[in-house]
Amino acid sequence: MTTSIDYHSPLAPAELAAMQDEIRTLARERNAVILAHNYQRPEVQDVADFVGDSLGLSREAASVEAEVIVFCGVHFMAETAAILAPDKTVLLPDLAAGCSLASTIDGDQLRQWKAEHPGAVVVSYVNTSAEVKAETDYCCTSGNAVDIINHIPPEKDILFLPDMFLGAHVRRVTGRENIHVWMGECHVHAGIDPEHINFQRSENPDAEFLIHPECGCATSVVEAVSAGAIDSTGAQILSTEGMIRRPQVSDAKTFIVATETGILHRLQKANPEKTFIPANRAAVCTYMKVTTLPKVLRSLELMQHRITVAPDIAARARLAIERMVSIGGHPTPVPPASGSMVDPGE
Ligand code: SF4
Repeated sequence: MTTSIDYHSPLAPAELAAMQDEIRTLARERNAVILAHNYQRPEVQDVADFVGDSLGLSREAASVEAEVIVFCGVHFMAETAAILAPDKTVLLPDLAAGCSLASTIDGDQLRQWKAEHPGAVVVSYVNTSAEVKAETDYCCTSGNAVDIINHIPPEKDILFLPDMFLGAHVRRVTGRENIHVWMGECHVHAGIDPEHINFQRSENPDAEFLIHPECGCATSVVEAVSAGAIDSTGAQILSTEGMIRRPQVSDAKTFIVATETGILHRLQKANPEKTFIPANRAAVCTYMKVTTLPKVLRSLELMQHRITVAPDIAARARLAIERMVSIGGHPTPVPPASGSMVDPGE
């Protein structure tokens, strides 16, 4: 048994299949590759050449041979692809695909914050604009944030942005008090709070509990686990690939999944005999869901909307991203508990 999430596509299944064929044909003609984030609508994931998390998609963008990348994700991710693949044409099917977390801070606000803390080292979660990355010393994922903080000399002040939950978590785990945290948050996290999770776990006592801290939607759960608001016993904090693999090696038949609900589609496809229960069915990123199949088709037809980053901003942002990729990756951000496992990736 599986749990499906309905994102209300107005197209009938036969129309979806016909449009997916049309998109694939046009993509071949345009020498385009379609990349889709895990939180995209199922029919968009199914037409993509590669489905993954933001770092996985960035790496794919940097290595593909196609001339055009149709990026089915949100704006800051398409910018990151454009930074890492400057010779490619990066298209975002809908410019409304923003991010409530990334939009909590812009370049001017960060420059002002830096001016208030001269000499501080800036660490930014990947959910930031290119302009903010250009003002950043180190980008980080939820998976290597602790490693990156530990890499910075202890006497240095740190400005950590924009996710206040990840910031609180790294402060707790590293014990550093000179970390200043920007009070940004993702609107989706409110749907995945300890109350929902504790309720689902009590309703399904045999279910395994999976946490996927990609994006800001589930970093609040990581913070709640490290703060003790959620029982860490048996919790599995996993990267995208860890999430997909875990049901195959686990004896559990049912899994409670704490993240944006879009990843359930991949989990169900990869593990059709298991049951997946979202911590909260309402944990849906509206920005991720603005990209529909007709918009992907239109994007290819009109070669729109092209995402570019000014070369000087791209060069500085690339440095911060490369530092992110080169440091850490196998942290243990949550105090280990009996039966728990941590593989947070990004
Ligand atoms: S889930 Fe939250 S952090 Fe991720 S893209 Fe959506 S708004 Fe941004």
